[in-house]
Amino acid sequence: MMLDIRQFIFILPLFISSALTAQFSSAKHVIIVAIDGFRWQELFHGADSSVLFDHRQVKDTAMMKTLFWDEDHKERRKKLMPFVWNYWASRGQLWGNQSLNSKVSVQNPYRLSYPGYHEMLNGFIDHRIKTNKPKKGKKNNILHYIASRDDFQGRVALFGSWERFKDMVDTGFVAVNAGYQIFEAKQPGPDLRSANEAIEFSAYKHLGTRPDMLTFSMAKDYMRATHPRLMFIGLGETDEFAHHRQYDLYLNQASLIDKMLCELWTLIQHDPYYKDQTLLIVTTDHGRGRAQNNWHRHGFMVPGSQETWIMMMGAGVEPLGEMENMPSVRLRQIPSLISSSLGLQYQPNHRVAASFIRLKPLPGKDQALLYGMNLHEPGKR
Ligand SMILES: [Zn+2]
Repeated sequence: MMLDIRQFIFILPLFISSALTAQFSSAKHVIIVAIDGFRWQELFHGADSSVLFDHRQVKDTAMMKTLFWDEDHKERRKKLMPFVWNYWASRGQLWGNQSLNSKVSVQNPYRLSYPGYHEMLNGFIDHRIKTNKPKKGKKNNILHYIASRDDFQGRVALFGSWERFKDMVDTGFVAVNAGYQIFEAKQPGPDLRSANEAIEFSAYKHLGTRPDMLTFSMAKDYMRATHPRLMFIGLGETDEFAHHRQYDLYLNQASLIDKMLCELWTLIQHDPYYKDQTLLIVTTDHGRGRAQNNWHRHGFMVPGSQETWIMMMGAGVEPLGEMENMPSVRLRQIPSLISSSLGLQYQPNHRVAASFIRLKPLPGKDQALLYGMNLHEPGKR
């Protein structure tokens, strides 16, 4: 990396006084996208040769090689996710490339989806949540906390492919739509109308996860019509294809999600409501195995399942690209990242991990000198 990152960012200890984390806002709105069980290996290195050329896990290895292979990992990852590597990497930040000594991990030892999303949304590890079975405790998470504030009421939403998202969030405060569930709107746009129709007539309603494209279409329509200030989009097919050991479909889905991120960013930057004042965060709920014979699995017994990643772009984010030689980051630091970017303090009745980075304040708001800290001069901390 060309820039000396020490000039630009602060690495905060995992736990500091929450008063220090919420001083100014760096964004007016936050959109967070989770790509279920998508490995850092593919994000940062592109297709994995140990699986890509395995006929048992890829139907047409020759075609997939043409599409996604290059000896140089920097070219290879561009083939898989061109928006991320041709655009995002020069304008945002990417954390979690273990080969550059940037580690992001889940702290919960279970390394399953529900515990992962709980950690991501609540900022702590609840050891009652060990499996994917629905659990209580959904009133304290960051979505509920923000949604219960006057200036965010009716402005927080979650759209998820996995039906279990309905159990994670208090639907009294947060607009939630997940699994094979249609979404009623007063004036549905064309994206929402066709998604609702596809769901209504689907032959796969017995499955727990709907196609990500439906989730994304609904979320887009909702953003245009309702302008949520905090939006969570949970995508799930990467995990589904991985569990079925369909590496070709897993890669195709990552490539499709790259296009979705491009479209989402275009929507944000071409809507005056969101433009230049929205923070976009993309992350995952857990990693997966590291090898040819266990990349499809994840959990307590699968080494590598704790390894995740976080990407950020937009309001408050310095364009540092791929991070290297950084202290470890935990998934449970995300709620404080969200609240502090909005200038708020997330103070539920449990201990919450602090954010791992301090973002730039929104232009025109000279509030950065609170607490005697000049944020442009790190030495004064
Ligand atoms: Zn998962």
